[in-house]
Parts: sequence; structure tokens; C-alpha cells
Amino acid sequence: MRKWILLLVALALLLPLAPALPDEGRGIVTHVMDGDTINVQGYGSIRLADVNSPELTAPGGPEAKEYTRNQLLNKSVHLDLDNKTGQDRYGRNVSVVFLSKTDGSVGENFNRMLVDSGHAIVEDAKDNEFDPMQWWKPPVPLPGDGKNDGKKFVGSAKSNKYHYPDCQWAKKIKSENEVWFSGSEDARGKGYVPCGVCHPP
Ligand SMILES: [Zn+2]
Repeated sequence: MRKWILLLVALALLLPLAPALPDEGRGIVTHVMDGDTINVQGYGSIRLADVNSPELTAPGGPEAKEYTRNQLLNKSVHLDLDNKTGQDRYGRNVSVVFLSKTDGSVGENFNRMLVDSGHAIVEDAKDNEFDPMQWWKPPVPLPGDGKNDGKKFVGSAKSNKYHYPDCQWAKKIKSENEVWFSGSEDARGKGYVPCGVCHPP
């Protein structure tokens, strides 16, 4: 008996050092408050880590809530709970939420799904254990936003192909290697040829 108590004490001491794992928690989503806040049975209020959905009263807020409700309500999720600060200032448990597959294993990262679906933006709260860049990569900027202003196609300094910016191969180009072109003539004139996957003109 005494051995067991010692073991439990040892485990309790080790817990704060436990590595971040997507299966630290598991439960059924009983309520969806808004896009980024849910209730999970046995874990109370869960605030999705490092993402921010619009408030319910703001444009996009009700749509974000609807998305989360459709994806998660009454479903089983896995939780990677924050082991650093744990709760936000409203007492909600900060967590990365994962869908559960039918076989019970860990599925897709829902924080990322929320961002990719356009219902949240990434906001790295530095007081938790998570680095959102480990689960989310910024998309290649689309024409009109920033350095590629007005440019239509993108290539890599390490290859001779040019792509539509949303091509799967364009997304793999490291940002420091991106070369942007105003059009096909510009790209071809610089020795680039069209990608065989996205077929730019
Ligand atoms: Zn392509």
C-alpha cells in the first residue's frame, strides 16, 4: 500500500514535466460556446490554444460557432492540455483539440481546421506551451497582399517552374526562395516554364 502512495506522489511530481501529447485528455463535447470555446465532459470549459474566432456579436462570429458546432458537438475529442499556464484569465482550460477517429485514435488538429476554414486567425499567446507554427504553416501570400503585389505567378529560385500561388507545389516553396512574376511573359522571359500540375498559361 505504502509503495502505491509513493508511486502516486512520484507521478504527481512528474506530471508538470509530462511532454505535450494529443491524448492528455479525451471526452465528449457537450456544448459549443463560440468558434474557439467548447465544453468537454470531464474537462469543463476549453479555450482553443493560439487561435481566435470572431466574437458572436462580430461579423463571422455566428458562422464560426456554427462550424465548430457542426464539427464537434456530441463528438469525442482528444485534448493536448496546456501544461505551462493551464488556464486563461477566464478560467478556461487552454488546449489544442483533435478530432477522434472512429477507431479511437487521434485525428485531425481542430485548431488548425478552424484556421484553415477561415473561422479563426492564429494568435500565439506566449504564456502557453504551444507554438502554433508547429501545427500551422502560413499560406503562400496571394496576389495583392504584400511583396507580390499585383504579381500572378510564383516560382522558386531553386527550380525553373512557375505556378499559380494556390498550387500544391507553390505552397512548398520556402518563402526566402519565392520569385514572383507579373504574368506568363514575365515568367517565361526569365527562363521559367509552366508547372505541369497547375498549368498556368
Ligand atoms: Zn503548379
